[in-house]
Amino acid sequence: MANHSKFPNLGISIFSAMSALAQQYGAINLAQGFPGFEVSEQLVDLVGTYMRKGVNQYSPMEGVLRLREVISQKQKNLYGISYDVATEVTISAGATEAVFAAISAFVHEGDEVICFEPVFDIYPPAIDFNKGKLIRIKLETPHFHYDWDKVAALVNPKTKLIILNTPHNPTGKILTAIDIEKLVAIVKNTSIVVISDEVYEHMVFDGKSHLSLASHPQLYDRTVVIASLGKVFHCTGWRIGYCLAPKYLTAEIRKVHQFVTFSANTPIQYAMADFLEQQENYLSLSKFFQQKRDFFIAQMSGSAFKFLPTDGSYFLLADYSAISQMSDLEFVKWITQKHAVAAIPVSVFNADGQDDKLIRFCFAKKEQELAEAAKRLCVI
Ligand code: GLN
Repeated sequence: MANHSKFPNLGISIFSAMSALAQQYGAINLAQGFPGFEVSEQLVDLVGTYMRKGVNQYSPMEGVLRLREVISQKQKNLYGISYDVATEVTISAGATEAVFAAISAFVHEGDEVICFEPVFDIYPPAIDFNKGKLIRIKLETPHFHYDWDKVAALVNPKTKLIILNTPHNPTGKILTAIDIEKLVAIVKNTSIVVISDEVYEHMVFDGKSHLSLASHPQLYDRTVVIASLGKVFHCTGWRIGYCLAPKYLTAEIRKVHQFVTFSANTPIQYAMADFLEQQENYLSLSKFFQQKRDFFIAQMSGSAFKFLPTDGSYFLLADYSAISQMSDLEFVKWITQKHAVAAIPVSVFNADGQDDKLIRFCFAKKEQELAEAAKRLCVI
């Protein structure tokens, strides 16, 4: 019997594809965004301790209470926002699961969802699975400014969600206080829900600050903040994220979460609660990653790549138009195969495939690896 694909247009994610190609060619993988250094010994020991203590069964659906308490306290300390531990904090199996649960909880068939391009690749399929309509607005190169007039012109009674990502993957752009005021003016007097993907909140550079959208008093009531402990503690494979939202939104998100994954990994949640109590474990990250960004840029100073500014995240966009006129997809395949360094082509984040000759490098790697990658890229 012929099996008709429900998603004929969906292929393998660019992250899986480029990681596989990097492995095949023994290339340094600056493509998929994951840290190339070890997790803290202390955190690994804590996981072992909790496993031996026997907390190895399902956690509560909404997450381990202690971890929710520590997260709630952290939001209060950093951004002055209060989240009720029982009804407004949910631990997910990675931020990706929280994004899926939030989109699925709110999008009805035909609802419109505004996203900004280049758009991180997990949002469009989740909107599609729920038969929503994706409305894309371009962040224009080279500055990737938000065009709020365009957003205002596109908002209509069918607009259900606006999805924002700050710091933004792949551009590294952060939302400013002015951007947030413009957003506030647009959503005022509407029932639009804002999903704010803030997984890179602790990687913001050059003295700039991360502004959590929920910290604006006029956004708090309609905003779902999604964060990632995998990103913060260099363990993306452990799959722990969380979702913060007012009670009426959280109740809907949990309805999806409980039937997608039920709960996240129990001993790791306990371990992360202890580790997250030590503020330096996340407050040190901006400095740590800024040094890596600057190190990589310095090592690349002899190359013909031109870097675009990045305010945050662990990504850098590079313009390779002085080197080649190949499409960005061909170019990343070529540098992976011939120069043994993998990167991500930015056109895959654009629905129309717009190719600005930009590729994304992940600089969350050891200096030695960054130096070797730069050496290989400088000869191109
Ligand atoms: N967030 C990471 C990136 O942008 C990885 C995403 C993934 O592999 N799904 O590279």
